[in-house]
Amino acid sequence: MIVCKFGGSSMANAERVRAAADIVRAEAGRRYAVVSAPGKRDKQDEKVTDLLIRCQKLGERGLDFTAPFAAVRTRFCELVASLGLNLDLTEDLAALEARLKNGATRDFAASRGEYFNAKIFAAELGFAFLDARELVAFDEKGELLMEETVARLAAALKKTPRAVIPGFYGSHPDGSVCVFSRGGSDVTGSLVAAAAKADLYENWTDVSGILMADPRIVRDARTIPIVTYQELRELSYMGATVLHEDAVFPVRRLGIPIRICNTARPGDDGTLIVADAPGKTGAVTGIAGKKGFTALYVEKDRMNAQIGFGRRVLSVLEEMELSFEHLPTGIDTLSVLMETEAVRGKENEVLSRIHAAVGPDRTHLEEGIALIAVVGRGMVHSPGCAARLFSGLAKAGINVKLIDQGSSQINIIVGVDEGDYERALEAIYREFVPVEL
Ligand code: ASP
Repeated sequence: MIVCKFGGSSMANAERVRAAADIVRAEAGRRYAVVSAPGKRDKQDEKVTDLLIRCQKLGERGLDFTAPFAAVRTRFCELVASLGLNLDLTEDLAALEARLKNGATRDFAASRGEYFNAKIFAAELGFAFLDARELVAFDEKGELLMEETVARLAAALKKTPRAVIPGFYGSHPDGSVCVFSRGGSDVTGSLVAAAAKADLYENWTDVSGILMADPRIVRDARTIPIVTYQELRELSYMGATVLHEDAVFPVRRLGIPIRICNTARPGDDGTLIVADAPGKTGAVTGIAGKKGFTALYVEKDRMNAQIGFGRRVLSVLEEMELSFEHLPTGIDTLSVLMETEAVRGKENEVLSRIHAAVGPDRTHLEEGIALIAVVGRGMVHSPGCAARLFSGLAKAGINVKLIDQGSSQINIIVGVDEGDYERALEAIYREFVPVEL
């Protein structure tokens, strides 16, 4: 049993919808499909979700939204016509237009792309349409109620052998529509996979899996064949974005693997995300990084003997509502990494409060740091990984500003100057990934 989710790019026009339907039909086990709203057909195009949000914003202020709404209508009508479906959305679309004039909420408007698209895909496949509004439960504040949702979905799926379910939305306890954050159809897919106790959750998109490094930096970056949930979490946190952050949790609990597949190249292996997998000794799974960090350095003689020093430094940050990302420490030094955006404008206050709290010998802030995470389950208990990493950076003449190894040992983080970021990432990649002949 497979649950497949098709993203916006896989649903952008009739040809792609047909390709997606062929994928579902090719395997009898693909009994449930979750869909996004139609995405961009080309670079200049606008996503249906964005058009709908624009309509809502204009409607709310009593302004004319004829043009964006006509674009939405045309896209759905063209899909229905090109696919030759016996489906009439006229009334539904007219009702939506009226709602937009009469105070539709942002979430309701944003959700309609998935709603209409799921109806279309269900008609194309001859599957039932199950409305996520009754199945995906949020609390009053918009937090997902996972147990409740999985229970509702499981009950509905039990009665429905084959169905299409719109992604991205559900409802509050009062029945009003509530959406996930953008890209949230991935989460719906994961919830459906958990409820169906699927053997596999396929996430169909426009790339053949997750790449080992950002292809804008490493042009020939290879696809990761297998990644564990934990590795993926480390890579995503550092900016490798393929799946919605919250999409892992529902399936992870049940050990259901996720495969990232390419709708345009269904024969490609893609990337398999699993709970556990043996790692090749010394191998790196992926490298990801981000610019935009600031380090707070605090130095004090005999710091190591002072109980509570670290706590007092962190309390200052807590009081100022600054979240810290990493905390590499030395014997008499402590450095705290934070996002530069968060610290901006608060620099003097941070330093003076640190002075008052711990009376350091020296303290300063340094902006412009990039962090690179080198992630690999094969690095655990594998001597020599760090040596290779640093020799790669040394060969490229890059100065390492800080090092942090997560306690999981699957992750080594290095901090470099933002100006060295791209070169550092490429140097690490080349050190660990042999050139393909
Ligand atoms: N259509 C929504 C978005 O554009 C949700 C999704 O595609 O997953 O963010």
